[in-house]
Amino acid sequence: MNNKDSLSSPNPDAELYQSDPDKPTEPVGVRSLQELLERATHQPIDTHTTKDDPGIAEPNAFPFLGIVGQEDMKLALLLSMINPIIGGVLLIGPRGTAKTTAARSLLDLLPDVERSLCQYGCLPKDIESAGISAVCPNCAKNFGENKPVSRMERAHLVELPLNARLEDVIGGIDDRASIHHRLRLKRGILAQADQNVLYIDEVNLLPDEIVDAILDAAAMGIYTVRRGPMSATYRANFTLVGSMNPEEGNLRPQILDRFGLRVIVHGLDDPKDRLNAYQRAVAFRSNPLKLISQYKQATEQLRNEIIISRNRLSNVTIPEEISTAGLMLIHKLEIESLRAEITLFEAARAHAAADDRTEVDMEDIQRVAAMALRLRKSPFIGDYLHKRTSEDQNVTSMMETILAMTKRKDH
Ligand SMILES: [Zn+2]
Repeated sequence: MNNKDSLSSPNPDAELYQSDPDKPTEPVGVRSLQELLERATHQPIDTHTTKDDPGIAEPNAFPFLGIVGQEDMKLALLLSMINPIIGGVLLIGPRGTAKTTAARSLLDLLPDVERSLCQYGCLPKDIESAGISAVCPNCAKNFGENKPVSRMERAHLVELPLNARLEDVIGGIDDRASIHHRLRLKRGILAQADQNVLYIDEVNLLPDEIVDAILDAAAMGIYTVRRGPMSATYRANFTLVGSMNPEEGNLRPQILDRFGLRVIVHGLDDPKDRLNAYQRAVAFRSNPLKLISQYKQATEQLRNEIIISRNRLSNVTIPEEISTAGLMLIHKLEIESLRAEITLFEAARAHAAADDRTEVDMEDIQRVAAMALRLRKSPFIGDYLHKRTSEDQNVTSMMETILAMTKRKDH
């Protein structure tokens, strides 16, 4: 079974862009990712509809930079692409606030990935790290004969279907292979998402066991499937993007805590922004390739900025006074979860890297604090700890009373 094609959006054909007569308007050379984001958001677009629509019903992604407003959402998504340790993004908001559009638009911003030519996902680096037995017999043979085992290609957006079963997500027995008396494990959606973006729409409507499996894999970067005597370990380094509409049910606090950044997505307030968003939506509906081409150059720049920021990230440090301030903020907010520090500091490092700096400053912390720390304080945990503290005090004072009574008896 090859369900990969139905799960991932096809890459738009680059040649189609080049045949478009409209030249991109974006000038070359930006100082930072922030500046680029600002500029593209306010870039005027040509809204004239033309008759040169090629009529291809290909699902093209709306350009990320064409999304009006929603600065927090765009920033959170960019930071999580620069630094995967952040732990993904949860977009919380009502329908029609461009959450899914934004997730799908990430496709054009992701750096190329090395993709296995084999259904079991074998890569040359598996052989480098664990020897020839780490790949399937076919890939071992190809590798031995100097034939390619992988190729570089554009990243995919893997969308988790709402009706996905646990077996689809983590993988299972390959029925086709077992007909030939060769039992094999089949790669699941998580393995397909490796190095890509995994998008879960309506994450609050998924069964807990599936959400748990995904979040475990996202946290570890690998996961293991066991079926009887067989087991297989897969890489699962992906940027996780979830969305939920709070009107349709809440997410358990334990699950909510495991998403890195959380963005509250509102509808647009400014009538001018709304008009702008409407015009772009209509322009995209009538001729998607034309609108895409108008953002093509800026999109390519942003993609390069992300790659440069990723490379810069390992050099970005946090000075002690900045980390002390961050820790104080978390303490004052009475947040228990250690994920608060991870997300706050890693998002701040990504923010500094995107701004071409190798040292985090207070403004980085300020900019990401709300999206890293909101909805992290569990009212249950707070209440629980409060009760435990008073219980402990009770035990201690009771003990002291008993000790005092015992002493009195001794004398
Ligand atoms: Zn293989």
